[in-house]
Amino acid sequence: MEKNEQLYEGKAKKVFATSDPALVIVDYKDDATAFNGLKKGQIAGKGVINNIMSNHMFQILEQQGVPTHFVEQLSERETVVKKVDIVPLEVIIRNISAGSFAKRYGVEEGIVFDAPTIEFSYKNDDLGDPLINDYHALALKLATAEEIERIKTLAFKVNEVMKQYFDSLNVILVDFKLEFGKIADGTIVLADEISPDTCRLWDKNTKEKLDKDRFRRDMGGVEDAYNEIMRRISGK
Ligand code: ADP
Ligand code: UDP
Repeated sequence: MEKNEQLYEGKAKKVFATSDPALVIVDYKDDATAFNGLKKGQIAGKGVINNIMSNHMFQILEQQGVPTHFVEQLSERETVVKKVDIVPLEVIIRNISAGSFAKRYGVEEGIVFDAPTIEFSYKNDDLGDPLINDYHALALKLATAEEIERIKTLAFKVNEVMKQYFDSLNVILVDFKLEFGKIADGTIVLADEISPDTCRLWDKNTKEKLDKDRFRRDMGGVEDAYNEIMRRISGK
């Protein structure tokens, strides 16, 4: 697969064109940001871990009937994916209170919900990814009603599959962010990444944080946390 011109450089990944207009190559960086880019840093080895972990999760999800953009891993940091038109929604599923949920509603972290929640943010860095509901998404023409329904169904399915999978690794899936996109025929597929950057993952026994919150909150042990997740996923 030929790696052609760079189409985009984001905060965590670069996207390159290929000889096939339906495919792009994503290249995962070690750069880390938080608070809408206000906090910047590097997490050594993160790009490799996020690439391998995302591809692993996408393959598990495909097996469980969730269509994803995954095509083929090229190297430690590079993967061929289907080029999609990203639906500009950050889809957040939560099983346990944490982060902005705890802050917004004035509750402690760690409350186990009876049922998972879903929320949408409008993916727009200039506006700071504001929280929106289905009606706002429709009004802003970010997606059709059918697409929003499909995204919700897929997001809850992803949660069920991932919750079970992480449980088997002695990890609690607290919450996570998904992005969906549309391929040329209009099919909605899961895109972007699934990694410790985009999930909150707690050790089941110690409740130790094994995700980007260690970076956001200057807790130290950031690389160790990413390595520990990688170690459990690779079954070592
Ligand atoms: P950000 O844009 O938020 O800084 P990244 O650094 O992760 O994020 O950049 C990757 C970009 O590529 C994101 O904007 C993401 O929505 C987009 N993207 C993810 N998967 C695909 C795909 N399959 N096709 C096209 N764009 C994608
Ligand atoms: N998340 C993400 N990208 C974002 C915002 C959130 O990947 O731009 C993930 C985050 O890692 C967490 C979940 O979505 O797993 C919920 O995040 P929250 O709304 O609590 O926001 P945060 O505390 O990250 O500001």
